[in-house]
Amino acid sequence: MTHDVQEMSDAERVRILAKAALFAPPPAVLPDGRREIVGLSREELTEALVAIGEKPFRTKQIWHWVYHQGVTDFAVMSTIARPLQEKLAARFVIGRPEPAVVQTSEDQTRKFLFRFRDGQEAETVYIPDRHEDRGAVCISSQVGCTLSCRFCHTGTQKLARNLGAAEIVGQFMAARDSYGEWPSPHGDTPRLLSTIVLMGMGEPLYNYENVAKAMRIVMDGEGIALSRRRITLSTSGVVPMMDRVGAELGVNLAVSLHAVRDDLRDVIVPLNRKYPIAELIAACRRYPAASNARRITFEYVMLRDVNDSEAEARALVKLIAGIPAKVNLIPFNPWPGSDYESSTRSQLAKFARIVEEAGFASPIRMPRGQDILAACGQLRTESRRDRDAA
Ligand code: SAH
Ligand code: SF4
Repeated sequence: MTHDVQEMSDAERVRILAKAALFAPPPAVLPDGRREIVGLSREELTEALVAIGEKPFRTKQIWHWVYHQGVTDFAVMSTIARPLQEKLAARFVIGRPEPAVVQTSEDQTRKFLFRFRDGQEAETVYIPDRHEDRGAVCISSQVGCTLSCRFCHTGTQKLARNLGAAEIVGQFMAARDSYGEWPSPHGDTPRLLSTIVLMGMGEPLYNYENVAKAMRIVMDGEGIALSRRRITLSTSGVVPMMDRVGAELGVNLAVSLHAVRDDLRDVIVPLNRKYPIAELIAACRRYPAASNARRITFEYVMLRDVNDSEAEARALVKLIAGIPAKVNLIPFNPWPGSDYESSTRSQLAKFARIVEEAGFASPIRMPRGQDILAACGQLRTESRRDRDAA
């Protein structure tokens, strides 16, 4: 990057972070003054404990109970004496978002509508792997989205607010609760929920600080301890923030490409007008965590007669040539009011073949949970920004 480009993207990052702050979540404190523990970084937890006269070593104990054991009650923290348990319970709470609605699909995909303390709601989806005894939790980062991709249901819901770190980690923890997945006193239970995909509602890179904080918590080796290889962050292409993800989090990257020409991508992914395809692909080439073992995923929603021709498949492989990548072809999932159709099976197969022959894995992502509107791009809630509702 030349100096100018560097300066420009620094300024752009400052702008993006300032905008995110306008949509900040409410403070994670109850009306009675008790503070939420989930979502505090280790440093913040230590500070909070020192502030009530406790020793820093308590952080490690409490962290283990909260994130490894998954408890929500101080009274079961057997390594902590009763008087301190009571003192902690008077000042802190170990909360979870409330599962207001839980639906399980015919294919066992489970969708949660979580309600947060201020009444805002977002959806989370657990997608069991068909072949292995585990699966991925698809987590939301915002209530609504500012970007209105033409094929996406979430994009029809205005951004109500960003989710806080507590709410992002809380979705995963509450999903684990639902499967009784925390270790039992008799030993560790098998973990079905072992992968996180940030592919729910919202654009994670427009809520970078909270997403990054939440991911650091889930990656912490003494708690939930997910490896960065088990986390995939999907972005519609917020180019200036992609370098930070690589440098600071090193998680897997998925990029919602969906078109190979700017004129089309400008329409279906309007963010393209700000960060066009060439800039997006350049950011992918720079992404440090990309290697043959850890490929970038390009997501490509297959819209019948819109972006699914064989010529486009050939243009796609040229565009991403040399990037360690795979291409996820996602048949379009309809939602009430949507105006596209999914590509035909034979067109999907033709497209996939061209991509594969160029040396890229090109799985067709079969829709999961469509019957309960839990598939990619179908999530949406009724939550609105307070000031709009007033
Ligand atoms: N905002 C981020 C994270 C959402 S991930 C992003 O856009 O990348 C959800 C994925 O599903 C994205 O690749 C998105 O483009 C895709 N998607 C959205 N609507 C869809 C639909 N109706 N059918 C299939 N995929 C869709
Ligand atoms: Fe937002 Fe992603 Fe949906 Fe686009 S596809 S509207 S960025 S959630």
